[in-house]
Amino acid sequence: MISNCCKILPCVAFAGVMALAVSSNCATTAPNSAPVAALYSQLEVFHGHVCAGSIFGARLGTAAREALKAAGGTGKFTARYYDLSCPVDGIQVAAGTTYGNAALAVDDSDEHRLVLTAYGNKMQVEARLTAKAEQIGLKSRDLGNQAKELPAGSPKRQQLEREIEEIHEWLRTAPTEDVVFVAKLNGKRGKH
Ligand SMILES: [Zn+2]
Repeated sequence: MISNCCKILPCVAFAGVMALAVSSNCATTAPNSAPVAALYSQLEVFHGHVCAGSIFGARLGTAAREALKAAGGTGKFTARYYDLSCPVDGIQVAAGTTYGNAALAVDDSDEHRLVLTAYGNKMQVEARLTAKAEQIGLKSRDLGNQAKELPAGSPKRQQLEREIEEIHEWLRTAPTEDVVFVAKLNGKRGKH
């Protein structure tokens, strides 16, 4: 079942978000591994439907977790996401940072940005969607809106649903650098 509840918009709002030292970012090389199929099955059950937003969350969560591990982050990882929407569930499943274990906070400020912090040594990475991924997410939403206007099972609707599923498959499996940009937030402060 395909739903289009997700609000996938380019990030323009930064108000109210603690200013992190973005100017001192150093791009990290995120391991190029898309989440495995089993994770997406788990996510569909947890989230209740398949959507671009929850897949985005899985990609952001996986890339951020791998980058923080690769950078040497120690101890428990905690997540902060800046939009209360479908990606939050993907992050919980993929990064293992859940609301229930007090490892996830959400600032609802219309920004698709994930900050993952290693509790042990306070290392942080930030993951964002690439412009390409955001555009494809918007296309998926538009196609879903068109499909909803058509009778269930009609050829045109089935065609649109196939196109949406192709987009979801690309989002699930595309190389990490095509979907997510990951940056270290505090690794080299003061050295630039
Ligand atoms: Zn959703």
